[in-house]
Amino acid sequence: MKRDYYEVLGVSKSASAEEIKKAYRKVAMQYHPDRNPGDKAAEEKFKEAAEAYEVLSDADKKSQYDRFGHAGLGNNGRGGFGNMNTEDIFSQFGDIFGDDIFGSFFGGSGRSGRGRRNQGVRGSNLRVKIKLNYEEIANGTTKTIKVKKYVPCGTCGGTGAKDKGGVQSCSSCGGSGQVRKVTNTFLGQMQTVTTCPTCNGEGTTITNKCTSCRGEGRVYSEETVNIEIPAGVQDGMQLSMSGKGNAGERGGIPGDLIILIEEESHPHLQREGLNVVFDLHISFTDVVFGTQVEVPTIDGKAKIKIPAGTQSGKIFRLKGKGFPAINSYERGDQLIHINVWTPQHISAEEKVVLEKLQDSPNFKPQPVKGEKSFFERVKEMFG
Ligand SMILES: [Zn+2]
Ligand SMILES: [Zn+2]
Repeated sequence: MKRDYYEVLGVSKSASAEEIKKAYRKVAMQYHPDRNPGDKAAEEKFKEAAEAYEVLSDADKKSQYDRFGHAGLGNNGRGGFGNMNTEDIFSQFGDIFGDDIFGSFFGGSGRSGRGRRNQGVRGSNLRVKIKLNYEEIANGTTKTIKVKKYVPCGTCGGTGAKDKGGVQSCSSCGGSGQVRKVTNTFLGQMQTVTTCPTCNGEGTTITNKCTSCRGEGRVYSEETVNIEIPAGVQDGMQLSMSGKGNAGERGGIPGDLIILIEEESHPHLQREGLNVVFDLHISFTDVVFGTQVEVPTIDGKAKIKIPAGTQSGKIFRLKGKGFPAINSYERGDQLIHINVWTPQHISAEEKVVLEKLQDSPNFKPQPVKGEKSFFERVKEMFG
């Protein structure tokens, strides 16, 4: 079971972005592998904190997480950092460990060896809307869509340079992407590491630009993307496909593709949480004699038996014919709501027959005591 991200960072749900950042730094410093060599548990905590921060520092991901929990991030509990090593985490959050005392903490020897140089500029996230019908939501589906976006430039391989000689190591930082500054404080000499302002931390400058992409290392194009939608998504949910957004500049890591789920309404069925409701209109004679009817379900039709003497307002339940939950094995039911149809117009002939029955004792309402009331049934239906 994954821990709650707020709990991981030790902040409340109402914490500000600044508080979240502060809390993350604190936890990351405490469990940093440099300070806990060989301590597996500390390393796990470090990664867990990085994952929590990745989500809570991103407004989109945070709002998804706030609404739907871990399931809302589309990773079904698989950690985004499970296969990442510490270096990757540092390159992802380079900025937060940057221009302050924290930088000096891990500065010195370890830092440069860790390869903090940012490659290029990260690509932005892309958003698409996907409309799904009830059947697709219940079973999960794969959608193939065309996305207009930046892709790495094929001419220069994403480097942005015309040829090998077109890229030069940055002269200000010597290619490391960062510059060190030594300051004297009351604690003694402190070394801080900041991003090189000349190359923006890239470590290189382009002296001869690729003509296809004008040095950007990416071009605007179209890409076909297969989107796997898990069963049980809901209207308003967002899934995120990491790395499927816009390509970064000059080999920078790509952004994410954010998929917004929209639910198409069904001509006969109505979703109520995990359940699906169907209003069945049935004739008076059919409920008196009993009958078999076909009802629509999320996938195809189902036959149900209406016993003789069924009252209007009765709810039949088709177990497991509702929607699956996205993050558990739970599954909803289909609820069939019986509505006995009262004729709106009758012929003179029909009137004669009905008048004969009017005073028959069997036609006098005789509700059974202990039968569930309308309000109890409504509660049960939506409970
Ligand atoms: Zn190019
Ligand atoms: Zn530089």
